[in-house]
Amino acid sequence: MSFKRIGVIGSGQLGRMLALAGTPLDVEFVFYDEARVSPSCNLGKCIFPSEQGSFEQFADSVDVITYESENTNLELVRKLNQIKPVYPGEASLSKSQHRLVEKNTFKSLGINTAKFLRVTTKEELIDAANQLGLPLVLKTTTMGYDGKGQAVVKASSDIDIAWNQLAGHELIAESFIDFSRELSVIAVRDTLGNTKVYPIAENEHHDGILRVSRVPAKALSQAKQKQAQDYITTMLNHLDHVGVLTLELFDCENELIVNEMAPRVHNSGHWSMEGSYCSQFENHVRAICGMPLGNTQAKQPAAAMINIIGKNGNRDSVLSTPNAHLHMYSKEERLNRKLGHINILGKTESEVEEAVTALNAFVKECG
Ligand code: AMP
Repeated sequence: MSFKRIGVIGSGQLGRMLALAGTPLDVEFVFYDEARVSPSCNLGKCIFPSEQGSFEQFADSVDVITYESENTNLELVRKLNQIKPVYPGEASLSKSQHRLVEKNTFKSLGINTAKFLRVTTKEELIDAANQLGLPLVLKTTTMGYDGKGQAVVKASSDIDIAWNQLAGHELIAESFIDFSRELSVIAVRDTLGNTKVYPIAENEHHDGILRVSRVPAKALSQAKQKQAQDYITTMLNHLDHVGVLTLELFDCENELIVNEMAPRVHNSGHWSMEGSYCSQFENHVRAICGMPLGNTQAKQPAAAMINIIGKNGNRDSVLSTPNAHLHMYSKEERLNRKLGHINILGKTESEVEEAVTALNAFVKECG
């Protein structure tokens, strides 16, 4: 038996793309719209949390619930889960909300991660610098995203600056990883425990924000591909995860190191909308609704995704690029805001790279 009505906590672009993928499967969507910014709302019903009885009304109106963000209120998820199943479950959400819990989980499962220490005082930060060595990365344990809530301590003289910037939060100090590039691996698991893994993406960030993902990651050894697949399968099974899960990875000389996980569809998987037989969005819908999982393989040998950030830019240049697909999120222009993305497919890496270069204005900034 498969579920027909999905409730999504949040109503941003991820909810929008879930609805765009789920509607052809005859699934309906209800959005619990906490922020009242609603790229999704014309694709389903919206319920606003401030309205009385809204949370019960939301749960009653759907068969299964999911969420857009790892920062979703855990208490809300616990309450909703007593009425309707919430996928991914509480373990996936709680562990990805707290960097210390997350890193301890990686460690306990034999998954490579940066060395780390909890920091609550300046003395502990000095101690961490002695134990981990410099440089180190100091991060808030909760609510960090796109590089926010963190500081790099390069020399002892930076300790005061980093401490003054982040004091007042629970912190984690991580050893600085000397990586050559950032990768991500995305996979999906259904309620029966079947799993499927997408090709690994190579991710280019500017100012802490993802700009371009390229798939498959260039010249990634078989051993590293297997390592990524093993790590994500281990995590999926350990969490009894249902839905899509993402691991962000650092590519180091001899091995991969896991930075963090996201219990959701991920920006670095947007290429899969046209690029794979079954997109991350459709597979998330299938997994949480109890449908068979779809094929995660790429349709073409090469793909890329460019984020449209801050300004809409010249859409016609995208629409007149033959192998490019435009996805806009119906959001107002704002500095550093993700407004849409462009997917590019090609028979060769160089064909894709040519289109990325031609659309370079989007990679830098949308002017
Ligand atoms: P995060 O908020 O953990 O995703 O970190 C944001 C970015 O900071 C990452 O994408 C990396 O580029 C960089 N970064 C995070 N942690 C480390 C680390 N331990 N060593 C080196 N760079 C890091």
